[in-house]
Amino acid sequence: MALPADDIPTRQLYIGGRWVPPARGGRLPCVCPITEQVIGSIPAGTAEDVEAAVAAAQAAVAARSWSGKSGAQRAGYLRAIADKLKEKKAALARLETLDMGKPVAESEWDMDDVAGCFEYYAGLAEQLDGRQGEGVDLGTEDFRCRLRREPLGVVGLISPWNYPMLMAAWKVAPALAAGNCAILKPSELASMTALELAAIADEVGLPAGVLNVVTGAGPDAGAPLSAHPGCAKIAFTGSTATGQRVYAAAAGNLRPASMELGGKSALIVFEDADVEKAVEWACFGVFWTVGQICSSTSRLLVHETIAPRFFAHLKKRAEGIKMGDPLAPDCRLGTLVSEGQYNKVLSYIEVGKAEGATLLTGGRRPPRFNKGYWVEPTVFTDVQPHMRIWKEEIFGPVLSARTFRTEEEAVAAANASEFGLAAGVISADPERCRRVSEALEAGIVWVNCSQPCFVQAPWGGVKASGFGRELGAFGLENFLSVKQITEYVSEAKWDWFPERPPS
Ligand code: NAD
Repeated sequence: MALPADDIPTRQLYIGGRWVPPARGGRLPCVCPITEQVIGSIPAGTAEDVEAAVAAAQAAVAARSWSGKSGAQRAGYLRAIADKLKEKKAALARLETLDMGKPVAESEWDMDDVAGCFEYYAGLAEQLDGRQGEGVDLGTEDFRCRLRREPLGVVGLISPWNYPMLMAAWKVAPALAAGNCAILKPSELASMTALELAAIADEVGLPAGVLNVVTGAGPDAGAPLSAHPGCAKIAFTGSTATGQRVYAAAAGNLRPASMELGGKSALIVFEDADVEKAVEWACFGVFWTVGQICSSTSRLLVHETIAPRFFAHLKKRAEGIKMGDPLAPDCRLGTLVSEGQYNKVLSYIEVGKAEGATLLTGGRRPPRFNKGYWVEPTVFTDVQPHMRIWKEEIFGPVLSARTFRTEEEAVAAANASEFGLAAGVISADPERCRRVSEALEAGIVWVNCSQPCFVQAPWGGVKASGFGRELGAFGLENFLSVKQITEYVSEAKWDWFPERPPS
């Protein structure tokens, strides 16, 4: 597959409102996962660049060039960013697809969500003005208390590659709406659109130092950012293993951190489900974004009475998923992000076979592609709870399925995981859906669907899937500090140490 890649921008780091080469001069190649060709490069930022970015953000905080603006003024900039994103949607979506391999129809959807995220937090920034000075009832007439919601200062934002621009937006938009100055460190596997976000911030005249983008390898740029004492908070999305390192680094400075980590989410399909619709959600739940979704419902529990019909239908549906040129609008399954991810997914498929699971469909690179990190939609049945393909996050188009007999058994199996990001239940019985959704140990539960995500609703997990919530009003609170201002308003003297002659 030969893809035109002649209009790939070459960018530098964006620090203090200027494009600057990395201190050590290095660049990292961008390999297109569809063609395996190098299509561009990103700056290889290091600790020196992080230092410069933190200093630039600190200077903006000190000048109050952002926190000194009202929420309504900040909203104006966020809306201007959203408008530019909409204007450039097609080009940005194309760049995202070339950089990380997801179908362009998904990248376009992502760009709509990115713009929607900036618009949503513009609205919350405006509302913030009206929430300032909110009173607290102290139960006494002698004191008056009011609250101020203030930005934290400089925040470090570290994002992954599966939704490169969207995951960046989930952090940048609320951080800026709250009045913080930010340093974004996107994943080195897909940083191109994050640099375009910096270009848009520049175009709309965002004050210097408010948004800084430092690309580079995790240990070289992410590690110094997470350990920097100049950051008031670290917001991280990525794998559980990296999250542990980032959390430890933030703890070293006693800084708070929010953690959006991995998952192995379960989807439970009961015997009263509409099989055709349930199969569709099961496919969407694990094959969307080529299965590279933290919340992917990659564990499937199907009631034994409908299992033969369900799996026959699932096989047919999975085999019909359109793979091909990811820039074609009807492509529904693109490539994995990198050679490393491709090898990891294929090795898990081998593990599944060796563990004795039944390969219902898929399991290989389609022979018609001689280049690119393609893996067929893959379904294993007869998966047992002890198997690695049931327990570990694969992060690819691989579904591990098993059957169950009772509701209790299904809930227990779904909850028997170190992760707790999301879960789903499909049943025609609303009372059962309510019961099961309350019993599932997860931060997100879908009923009669899988994966839909709305900017208004909180996002995040429990257990090893992390803590803190992004999106919705919670996403803004993540980046605010609450200050109480308490005033003594009584005319009376306090008189705790009444005047007395010296003893
Ligand atoms: P990753 O942990 O490899 O990398 C995430 C980010 O951390 C990247 O920017 C990387 O450069 C940086 N990093 C790497 N080492 C670092 C270090 N030592 N110190 C600081 N930063 C470092 O994750 P990934 O492969 O980019 O993303 C996939 C993972 O992200 C999956 O586990 C997935 O489940 C998770 N994820 C979670 C959510 C969620 O909302 N919970 C969303 C998307 C992805």
